[in-house]
Amino acid sequence: MTTNEAAREADWRRATELIRSAGTVALACHVSPDGDALGSMLGLGLALARTGKKVVASFGDRVFAVPRLLRFLPGQSLLVEPSAYPAEPDLMITFDASTMERLGLLAPHAGKAGELVVIDHHVSNTRFGTVHLVDPGAASTTMVVDELVNRLGLPIDREVATCLYAGLVTDTGSFRHSITTPAAHAMAGRLLATGLRPEEIARELWDRSPFAYLRVLGTALGRATLEPDAVGGLGLVWTSVTRADRAAEGLPYDEVEGMIDVVRRVDEAEVAVVLKEDDEGGWNVSTRSKGAVDVARACAALGGGGHSRAAGFSSALSVADTMAALRPLLAPEGSRS
Ligand code: 5GP
Ligand code: MN
Repeated sequence: MTTNEAAREADWRRATELIRSAGTVALACHVSPDGDALGSMLGLGLALARTGKKVVASFGDRVFAVPRLLRFLPGQSLLVEPSAYPAEPDLMITFDASTMERLGLLAPHAGKAGELVVIDHHVSNTRFGTVHLVDPGAASTTMVVDELVNRLGLPIDREVATCLYAGLVTDTGSFRHSITTPAAHAMAGRLLATGLRPEEIARELWDRSPFAYLRVLGTALGRATLEPDAVGGLGLVWTSVTRADRAAEGLPYDEVEGMIDVVRRVDEAEVAVVLKEDDEGGWNVSTRSKGAVDVARACAALGGGGHSRAAGFSSALSVADTMAALRPLLAPEGSRS
């Protein structure tokens, strides 16, 4: 065993010991949770709650609401508002958060936790806890949780499996992205054997929206811009969706989170960007690359992060100024000076 493997094994042992001996466990995932963040947290939460432990789970958004498309996930009764979260938890576990800041309002709680177990798969994870289960080779954080639940010897029933599967299909783009490993498919096979309904999960996650979404999507696509000369000549496509666009149709912010999946299909662009204005006037920016550009590096330079082909950041600048800051950072690998 190498030193690294031994250190990783020590982390696994420490994490399972801490969890086994805890009476109460406080769970937190990153703000504006996606299927992987919420699925990994609720999956572990449900598995632990069934052993008789007290489990509280939350995320630190100023306006606390589960995104509409994730309300089908089992285990929602474990959720509490950040205001009801323990101020100094003995044992706190974080999910899919690469930095302490990604915990939003719950970052101070993490800072005061007796023990802080960080569960994640971002290569950029800053190791801000006391114990780290961080595997950049894992397609989703739910893959790390799957191993943890198995090491704890806890059963994975259909409800736990539904949570873990939701994270797995979210982060692999339904097994389409380059991160789709044999291990990801093997895990999917084990989860499917519990009787979960993949077609229902897919429909909840991707195949439904209010009619208003079509109207707002039309508006945003109508102003999409293709810049063939950007990204070292490989092309950039981008658009924005404002709170005024959404207000005109009565569409909540969380409904536009996935708009990047439409924009990124453009053949003429290596990089796709969608700027999404929230209800407070701040901007959340989604970026995607096809492999020649490390968008995580670009987003990190602007205070965000993510994966090399899927990353994001938030911006308080105007759309034009945000794009002006981002554009020069989108250089293809190897062409950087
Ligand atoms: P999305 O565009 O789907 O919101 O995010 C894509 C990836 O980038 C996800 O892994 C997400 O966690 C990460 N990401 C998005 N926004 C931010 C941000 O503001 N900060 C950091 N560190 N990561 C982000
Ligand atoms: Mn993830």
